[in-house]
Amino acid sequence: MQAILRLDLAGQPRGWLTLQEAISAYARGDVVYGIGDSLPPVFGGIQRSSGLRSSITLQPIIAIEGRIIDGFTPPLCNRTLFRRDDHRCLYCGNQFRRSELTRDHVLPVSRGGTDKWENVVAACKRCNWVKDNHTPEEASMPLLAVPFRPNQFEWHFLAKERVLADQMDYLSQQFRADRDWAH
Ligand SMILES: [Zn+2]
Repeated sequence: MQAILRLDLAGQPRGWLTLQEAISAYARGDVVYGIGDSLPPVFGGIQRSSGLRSSITLQPIIAIEGRIIDGFTPPLCNRTLFRRDDHRCLYCGNQFRRSELTRDHVLPVSRGGTDKWENVVAACKRCNWVKDNHTPEEASMPLLAVPFRPNQFEWHFLAKERVLADQMDYLSQQFRADRDWAH
């Protein structure tokens, strides 16, 4: 299902809307502006007064009225984490299916490591098992990349399986150039 990228009035990504949620926002008059080529029209019911079928044309990115919140904490879940690491185990470098990957804590939780973006990487089950309760140095398993916390633009891209070209153009303006998936 295609989703609409929601912005606040400052142009910061604020989530993904279903088509239905986007239509409701239009109907309430909350959409301040849209960006990108119009999507195929979505048809609603027959209007009693005119006998015509209503239709609404959505744009792939819409800015919605409302409070501007400072700061953004990207939620951490395995799906977005594995996409951040390109479904690659950051110890052996091989690519795996999502079901074959695990969330590894670089500094193990039992040793005070926290569950945050900067301390977690995708790891295959074998590497996770071999590394066990050790740091990469102790296990002689150097990390192939430095784990990072995605910014707001990167996270919205990673959180969505299917992104339209206009949405990708908008989000990728704020990707760091060295991301594997940034080009
Ligand atoms: Zn591995």
